[in-house]
Amino acid sequence: MEIIVAKNSGLCYGVKRALNLAKETRNKRNGKVFTLGDLIHNPRVIADLQKQGIQPIENLNELKKGTVIIRSHGVSPGVHKSLKEKQMEIVDATCPIVKKIQKLVEILAKEKEEIIIVGNKDHPEIKGLIGFSQGRGIIVENETQVKRLTHKKKRAVLAQSTQDLYLFEKIVAALIEKTEELRVYNTICHSTQTRQKATSDLASHVDTLFIVGGKNSSNTRKLFQISRRILPTTYFIENAEQITPKTLKWANKIGISGGASTPPEAIQEAVEKIKDSYKLQLKKEKTIQCRE
Ligand code: SF4
Repeated sequence: MEIIVAKNSGLCYGVKRALNLAKETRNKRNGKVFTLGDLIHNPRVIADLQKQGIQPIENLNELKKGTVIIRSHGVSPGVHKSLKEKQMEIVDATCPIVKKIQKLVEILAKEKEEIIIVGNKDHPEIKGLIGFSQGRGIIVENETQVKRLTHKKKRAVLAQSTQDLYLFEKIVAALIEKTEELRVYNTICHSTQTRQKATSDLASHVDTLFIVGGKNSSNTRKLFQISRRILPTTYFIENAEQITPKTLKWANKIGISGGASTPPEAIQEAVEKIKDSYKLQLKKEKTIQCRE
């Protein structure tokens, strides 16, 4: 049995930075410290932050007095304004790469361009980006939605930083048929692209693959979809406990990959769980042999 962990698995630069900023803020500031939404899409890290006194808040109305941390996904200018009006102390942990995409949307909106944003409409990064588009942004999640668009002379297209490159390429191809002059901005971040490539390479070399991460993490779900396209025996698990004898049946060469919000401990625990399951299995087989 062989276990291979994908290169570039686990926390990305932007998420690490946001976590460090949150911890630093908690140490330096008195009073309440909030994050606007979960700082990272991982239930166990959120529980840990709560223990340290960093509270996630979903609704702006719940914010009273104190410090609010804007997570790596960023927020729209409207949300930023509301936080200022509430006189909250703001710590902006928006990933610098997301900031660049926000700036790009702002510039394109000023140029009066129609902006196609390829991403999940419910994802916080997309909600933030659309706020920069001054009503010129259209969110597209799949090729079918492109087919419903009218033919246009000019358009621009960009992507959520964690978008699946394969899907983005397919949407761009569909948009070309609907647009005379299409400006394409590949805004999928480098960390996402290398992670996706490492996972698809691994899926081609193993017989079973576990994607570890929060079910609400969009980039982890995309890794799952990418791997599943290549390897049907890909499993999306939130923790090592979900690795069962059933998932390990016929597994000999096992891959593990994690999303941008998956802590290294979660990946290590998955490795240990697989090793333990194999030791147990070997014992069982030995017992059966003795009886015979
Ligand atoms: S996935 Fe990329 S853009 Fe998103 S937070 Fe991480 S480094 Fe930043």
